[in-house]
Amino acid sequence: ELPNNYIDRLETDLDALPWWLGLMKEKEVVMVNNTEQLPAEAERFRTFMVTNNLKSLVDVSRTYEGEFIGFLRFGCVQSTRSWEDEEIALLRLVGQIITNALQRSRADSELRSYAGELEDANTKLKELDKLKSLFIASMSHELRTPLNSIIGFTGIILQGLTGAITDQQQNQLQRVYKSAKHLLNLITDVIDISKIEAGRIDVYPDHFLVSEVIEEALNAISSQAADKDLAIDVKVHDDITLFQDRKRFLQCIINFLSNAVKYTEQGTITLQVDKNGKYAEIKVSDTGIGINSEDISKLFEPFERLDSHLRIKAGGTGLGLYLTRKIIDELLHGSISVQSQVGVGSTFLMKVPVDHPLTDSSENQITSIEAGVT
Ligand code: ADP
Repeated sequence: ELPNNYIDRLETDLDALPWWLGLMKEKEVVMVNNTEQLPAEAERFRTFMVTNNLKSLVDVSRTYEGEFIGFLRFGCVQSTRSWEDEEIALLRLVGQIITNALQRSRADSELRSYAGELEDANTKLKELDKLKSLFIASMSHELRTPLNSIIGFTGIILQGLTGAITDQQQNQLQRVYKSAKHLLNLITDVIDISKIEAGRIDVYPDHFLVSEVIEEALNAISSQAADKDLAIDVKVHDDITLFQDRKRFLQCIINFLSNAVKYTEQGTITLQVDKNGKYAEIKVSDTGIGINSEDISKLFEPFERLDSHLRIKAGGTGLGLYLTRKIIDELLHGSISVQSQVGVGSTFLMKVPVDHPLTDSSENQITSIEAGVT
């Protein structure tokens, strides 16, 4: 029979029982069969047992990650007795279960508080993201409009449509025109990248003939290629139809081609298109300056422009390939790869699914029905 205040009275200051505490920490078990057997240095513990009406006890320590965090006791208030190994093993087991449960509940409540903090941070991030998108959207308009008017009017003056200009004026206006175009390209790329990163760019898949897009891309770069006397060899095997975002697909091909033209001094640029199962492969090879194998990984980093004698002459922002990879990976759901040899040339390969995977084109629906029947 236990006294009513048994539990309360056990809340003893353990540091006041150094003999017991030492054994607990060192041996993890304290066993007292009979208070009479206690050694002289355990005098305080003996008093503790007597005042608590304990005739015999066995204590097993509870540890967590090697730290003593508590103990579990079998106490006998009626008579002296000895304790069996099984009783000690049982105490250890129960102690372990209690420790695990307590730690789990502590971890749970920590997790709950982290989850709360995470949710707050997430909400704040979403607000910031909205602000960022708003900022980008307004930048797009505010910056592009004046730049377009600079480019437009400079072009008109340069063509002599508003009267004759001196050679010096022609030269200086040419620079204004080129710089404004460079800035417009930079802004357009930065805006595209930000929109993709914010997940705010819409994808518009549509059916189109690859050969038509290739023709459009070739038109965009033909005068630069002609200025450098570069031949362009086009090998489009089948007339492949894609269900993809046409504008973004075109943007990637123009980027490949314009880089090939920029970084090639003589020779040929080859554009090859093949269909390989559910993928279309577009390969742009050049006979240009090539790229060091150590530099290949830098190509797709933002603002990364490799050192070469063409670096200044070629012009550029270092954003083209970074953006192209983002478009191919995230918008077209394809992949990009490159092979190159210094002084020999480079090949950029873009592999995109013939059918954009996130759209419900009729072909996709049929495939899923067939799969269901099988
Ligand atoms: P940039 O605006 O400088 O052309 P890109 O992101 O398109 O930026 O390309 C990054 C860098 O990769 C270029 O500055 C150039 O050093 C290198 N590069 C890209 N395409 C080629 C290529 N076809 N041949 C050799 N180097 C290339």
